[in-house]
Amino acid sequence: MDEIIAKIDDPEILPQIDKVVPFHGYLSTGAFIGLQMLKIASELLDINDDDRIFVTCETLNCLPDPFQILHGCTVGNKGLKILDYDKMAVTINKGAKPGETNVKGVRIFLDPAKTAKYPVFHAWYMNERKVPHEEAISELIKAGDDVYTWEFVDVQVPVKAKKDVRICTSCGESFISKDGSTVCKGCLEKL
Ligand SMILES: [Zn+2]
Repeated sequence: MDEIIAKIDDPEILPQIDKVVPFHGYLSTGAFIGLQMLKIASELLDINDDDRIFVTCETLNCLPDPFQILHGCTVGNKGLKILDYDKMAVTINKGAKPGETNVKGVRIFLDPAKTAKYPVFHAWYMNERKVPHEEAISELIKAGDDVYTWEFVDVQVPVKAKKDVRICTSCGESFISKDGSTVCKGCLEKL
Protein backbone atom coordinates (compact mmCIF):
# COMPACT_ATOMS: atom_id res chain seq x y z
CA MET A 1 0.00 0.00 0.00
CA ASP A 2 2.88 2.40 0.77
CA GLU A 3 4.09 1.93 -2.81
CA ILE A 4 0.71 3.05 -4.08
CA ILE A 5 0.66 6.08 -1.83
CA ALA A 6 4.18 6.96 -3.04
CA LYS A 7 2.84 7.06 -6.62
CA ILE A 8 0.16 9.61 -5.78
CA ASP A 9 1.42 13.01 -6.81
CA ASP A 10 -1.81 14.90 -6.16
CA PRO A 11 -0.81 17.54 -3.58
CA GLU A 12 -4.43 17.84 -2.38
CA ILE A 13 -5.21 14.15 -1.86
CA LEU A 14 -1.90 13.12 -0.24
CA PRO A 15 -2.35 14.96 3.09
CA GLN A 16 -5.98 13.82 3.09
CA ILE A 17 -4.87 10.19 2.84
CA ASP A 18 -2.64 10.73 5.90
CA LYS A 19 -5.73 11.71 7.88
CA VAL A 20 -8.11 9.10 6.46
CA VAL A 21 -5.87 6.04 6.98
CA PRO A 22 -5.71 6.14 10.81
CA PHE A 23 -9.44 6.96 11.00
CA HIS A 24 -10.65 4.30 8.58
CA GLY A 25 -7.96 1.77 9.48
CA TYR A 26 -6.37 1.51 6.04
CA LEU A 27 -6.72 3.04 2.59
CA SER A 28 -9.63 1.11 1.12
CA THR A 29 -10.77 1.55 -2.43
CA GLY A 30 -14.11 2.88 -1.20
CA ALA A 31 -12.43 5.50 1.00
CA PHE A 32 -10.26 6.58 -1.93
CA ILE A 33 -13.40 6.93 -4.07
CA GLY A 34 -14.81 9.19 -1.35
CA LEU A 35 -11.68 11.36 -1.56
CA GLN A 36 -12.00 11.68 -5.32
CA MET A 37 -15.69 12.53 -5.02
CA LEU A 38 -14.91 15.16 -2.40
CA LYS A 39 -12.31 16.68 -4.72
CA ILE A 40 -14.79 16.88 -7.62
CA ALA A 41 -17.47 18.44 -5.41
CA SER A 42 -14.99 20.91 -3.92
CA GLU A 43 -14.15 22.20 -7.39
CA LEU A 44 -17.77 22.31 -8.59
CA LEU A 45 -19.19 23.95 -5.47
CA ASP A 46 -16.13 25.96 -4.44
CA ILE A 47 -15.79 24.18 -1.10
CA ASN A 48 -12.85 25.19 1.10
CA ASP A 49 -11.21 22.91 3.68
CA ASP A 50 -12.95 24.61 6.62
CA ASP A 51 -16.40 24.91 5.00
CA ARG A 52 -19.22 23.05 6.68
CA ILE A 53 -20.73 20.65 4.15
CA PHE A 54 -23.67 18.28 4.10
CA VAL A 55 -23.22 14.85 2.61
CA THR A 56 -25.65 12.09 1.77
CA CYS A 57 -23.86 8.79 1.13
CA GLU A 58 -25.80 6.06 -0.63
CA THR A 59 -23.81 3.30 1.05
CA LEU A 60 -22.61 2.45 4.55
CA ASN A 61 -19.38 1.00 3.21
CA CYS A 62 -16.13 3.03 3.36
CA LEU A 63 -17.43 6.00 1.36
CA PRO A 64 -18.70 8.07 4.34
CA ASP A 65 -15.37 8.12 6.21
CA PRO A 66 -13.39 10.74 4.26
CA PHE A 67 -16.24 13.22 4.75
CA GLN A 68 -16.29 12.57 8.49
CA ILE A 69 -12.58 13.01 9.02
CA LEU A 70 -11.91 15.85 6.55
CA HIS A 71 -15.06 17.93 6.97
CA GLY A 72 -16.41 16.83 10.35
CA CYS A 73 -19.65 15.56 8.81
CA THR A 74 -21.18 13.15 11.30
CA VAL A 75 -24.54 11.49 11.74
CA GLY A 76 -24.87 13.31 15.07
CA ASN A 77 -24.31 16.83 13.70
CA LYS A 78 -26.54 16.12 10.69
CA GLY A 79 -23.64 16.72 8.31
CA LEU A 80 -23.81 13.09 7.23
CA LYS A 81 -26.85 11.17 6.12
CA ILE A 82 -26.66 7.56 5.03
CA LEU A 83 -29.04 5.94 2.59
CA ASP A 84 -28.50 2.19 2.71
CA TYR A 85 -28.82 1.67 -1.05
CA ASP A 86 -25.41 0.00 -1.48
CA LYS A 87 -24.59 2.43 -4.28
CA MET A 88 -21.32 4.25 -4.87
CA ALA A 89 -22.90 7.70 -4.91
CA VAL A 90 -22.89 10.85 -2.81
CA THR A 91 -24.74 14.14 -2.82
CA ILE A 92 -22.84 17.08 -1.39
CA ASN A 93 -23.90 20.63 -0.64
CA LYS A 94 -22.73 23.59 1.38
CA GLY A 95 -24.87 25.01 4.16
CA ALA A 96 -27.80 27.26 3.24
CA LYS A 97 -27.77 30.96 3.97
CA PRO A 98 -30.41 32.16 6.45
CA GLY A 99 -33.85 32.14 4.82
CA GLU A 100 -32.86 29.84 1.95
CA THR A 101 -35.20 26.87 1.50
CA ASN A 102 -33.02 25.04 -0.96
CA VAL A 103 -29.39 25.04 -1.91
CA LYS A 104 -27.38 23.87 -4.93
CA GLY A 105 -25.73 20.49 -4.45
CA VAL A 106 -24.05 17.94 -6.65
CA ARG A 107 -24.73 14.20 -6.91
CA ILE A 108 -21.74 12.18 -8.02
CA PHE A 109 -21.74 8.47 -8.80
CA LEU A 110 -19.18 5.95 -9.89
CA ASP A 111 -20.33 5.27 -13.44
CA PRO A 112 -20.01 1.65 -14.65
CA ALA A 113 -20.22 2.82 -18.27
CA LYS A 114 -17.02 4.79 -17.62
CA THR A 115 -15.19 2.31 -15.38
CA ALA A 116 -15.42 -0.20 -18.26
CA LYS A 117 -12.43 1.64 -19.80
CA TYR A 118 -10.35 0.57 -16.79
CA PRO A 119 -10.65 -3.24 -16.77
CA VAL A 120 -8.90 -3.96 -13.45
CA PHE A 121 -10.87 -1.35 -11.61
CA HIS A 122 -14.10 -2.35 -13.37
CA ALA A 123 -13.53 -5.95 -12.23
CA TRP A 124 -13.26 -4.65 -8.64
CA TYR A 125 -16.41 -2.53 -9.03
CA MET A 126 -18.50 -5.33 -10.57
CA ASN A 127 -16.93 -7.85 -8.16
CA GLU A 128 -16.01 -10.08 -11.10
CA ARG A 129 -12.98 -11.36 -9.23
CA LYS A 130 -10.91 -10.52 -6.17
CA VAL A 131 -8.92 -7.37 -6.96
CA PRO A 132 -6.49 -6.13 -4.28
CA HIS A 133 -7.10 -2.58 -3.07
CA GLU A 134 -3.60 -1.64 -4.28
CA GLU A 135 -4.48 -2.54 -7.88
CA ALA A 136 -7.91 -0.95 -7.79
CA ILE A 137 -6.54 2.30 -6.35
CA SER A 138 -3.67 2.35 -8.87
CA GLU A 139 -6.19 2.41 -11.70
CA LEU A 140 -8.32 5.00 -9.94
CA ILE A 141 -5.30 7.29 -9.70
CA LYS A 142 -4.81 6.94 -13.46
CA ALA A 143 -8.50 7.51 -14.12
CA GLY A 144 -8.94 10.57 -11.91
CA ASP A 145 -12.39 12.08 -12.45
CA ASP A 146 -12.82 10.11 -15.70
CA VAL A 147 -14.90 7.38 -13.99
CA TYR A 148 -17.45 9.65 -12.32
CA THR A 149 -20.67 11.20 -13.55
CA TRP A 150 -22.30 14.11 -11.76
CA GLU A 151 -25.22 16.46 -11.97
CA PHE A 152 -26.27 19.50 -10.01
CA VAL A 153 -29.29 18.95 -7.78
CA ASP A 154 -31.52 21.12 -5.65
CA VAL A 155 -31.21 20.12 -2.02
CA GLN A 156 -34.14 20.96 0.23
CA VAL A 157 -33.11 22.57 3.52
CA PRO A 158 -34.85 20.67 6.33
CA VAL A 159 -37.36 22.74 8.27
CA LYS A 160 -36.94 22.54 12.02
CA ALA A 161 -40.27 21.49 13.53
CA LYS A 162 -40.88 21.65 17.28
CA LYS A 163 -40.09 18.27 18.84
CA ASP A 164 -43.15 16.43 20.16
CA VAL A 165 -41.61 14.73 23.21
CA ARG A 166 -43.84 12.17 24.91
CA ILE A 167 -43.64 9.39 27.46
CA CYS A 168 -44.03 5.98 25.80
CA THR A 169 -47.18 4.26 27.06
CA SER A 170 -45.41 0.90 26.86
CA CYS A 171 -41.91 1.38 28.39
CA GLY A 172 -42.38 4.69 30.22
CA GLU A 173 -39.28 6.27 28.65
CA SER A 174 -39.36 9.58 26.79
CA PHE A 175 -39.09 9.71 23.01
CA ILE A 176 -39.70 12.15 20.16
CA SER A 177 -43.09 11.29 18.70
CA LYS A 178 -43.69 11.46 14.97
CA ASP A 179 -47.27 11.78 13.70
CA GLY A 180 -48.67 11.63 17.24
CA SER A 181 -47.52 8.08 18.04
CA THR A 182 -47.86 7.21 21.76
CA VAL A 183 -45.48 4.23 21.66
CA CYS A 184 -41.74 4.56 20.97
CA LYS A 185 -40.16 2.90 17.95
CA GLY A 186 -38.23 0.45 20.14
CA CYS A 187 -41.43 -0.84 21.68
CA LEU A 188 -43.30 -0.81 18.34
CA GLU A 189 -40.73 -3.22 16.94
CA LYS A 190 -41.26 -5.56 19.88
CA LEU A 191 -45.06 -5.46 19.68
ZN1 LIG B 1 -41.31 2.44 24.61
